[in-house]
Amino acid sequence: MYKIAVLPGDGIGVEIVPEAVKVLKAIAVKFGHQFEFREAPVGGAAYDITGHPLPPETLKLCQESDAVLLGAIGGPKYDNLPVHLRPEIGALLPLRKELALYANLRPCILFPGLLKASTLKEEVISGVDIMVVRELTGGLYFGEKYRENTPDGGQKATDILSYSTYEIERIARFAFEAARKRRKNLCSVDKANVIETSRLWRETVTKLGQEYPDVLLSHMYVDNCSMQLIRNPKQFDVIVTENMFGDILTDEASMLTGSIGMLPSASIGGKVSLYEPSHGSAPDIAGQKKANPLATILSAAMMLRYSFNLEEEALLIEEAVRQVMADGYRTPDLMEAGCTLVNTVEMGDKVVEMIMR
Ligand code: NAD
Repeated sequence: MYKIAVLPGDGIGVEIVPEAVKVLKAIAVKFGHQFEFREAPVGGAAYDITGHPLPPETLKLCQESDAVLLGAIGGPKYDNLPVHLRPEIGALLPLRKELALYANLRPCILFPGLLKASTLKEEVISGVDIMVVRELTGGLYFGEKYRENTPDGGQKATDILSYSTYEIERIARFAFEAARKRRKNLCSVDKANVIETSRLWRETVTKLGQEYPDVLLSHMYVDNCSMQLIRNPKQFDVIVTENMFGDILTDEASMLTGSIGMLPSASIGGKVSLYEPSHGSAPDIAGQKKANPLATILSAAMMLRYSFNLEEEALLIEEAVRQVMADGYRTPDLMEAGCTLVNTVEMGDKVVEMIMR
């Protein structure tokens, strides 16, 4: 019996999470597993009900579960709340901190059926298979923030960026281990030419590299990395980087896969891991059944792999997605000539059909 906390959240979260649950239920039937799903509100949805985006009951449910499946949170309705009550700052960041999820894994893989869906040239992206390891509980997002008035009648805003040797070493070790299981190539991304935390980052990663002589370590400035991801993404195997750089670079990298709706993620580090798509709540398409549920479905596959050690089941989900893509079914974000347009629910159904064949 695996206990899964289900937090759909806001916007398209409530549309894509049920599709991932549907897929997990199909896996349970096919392999004879028992998954217990317990749902709780988070983000704007939780604020609407309880007055706080991360109610204690929701956090408790997560802590008492074997894994957490999250949709997305946030939306324009909540943008003007006091900062501590905004969904991302009031729920997402504390959830990551409370569950000690310091490592965010974002596999960026191009499914062969989607070669033409990307805005980039086929020869540039074919065969792309990158694992981005993003530090998730430090850096600018978690640093002290404040505002003060200035004599000219304006304001000054400050966000503190800090990283300790311990935090850098912890995530770098995770990335070296990940590289060891892949093509043994690790690129550490920083801005060491300008930022002090990046200089400590580079020194620490370089030193740790001595323990991993079998892994080829390189360093790259974040601005260059942003360019190289589009110029020649196949040069990358594993990328390790700090919180904000990872946030931005992975949105960019998602375009290598055709759509941000294809990029899953696993947040790992504590007793309970959290799985969520890399994208947000997409208010522009919410409620229209246009959202691509595959990033969430692929996040559920990561849950089976990393939290429950169910590799065969995870592979079956990934293979089902690959086959549905090869058969030409597409949500609007991936739609191209000659393909069949499906909505969010139909896409989930197609993956389930493929699993149950
Ligand atoms: P977003 O990722 O929600 O959307 C960016 C663009 O990608 C939009 O055009 C959207 O329609 C599209 N898109 C995203 N997911 C898609 C999917 N599954 N299928 C098809 N198209 C998809 O980013 P945003 O617009 O910058 O932010 C919207 C809200 O989400 C904000 O409130 C933001 O704070 C929040 N957000 C939450 C998370 C999270 O919950 N982890 C992450 C990022 C942003």
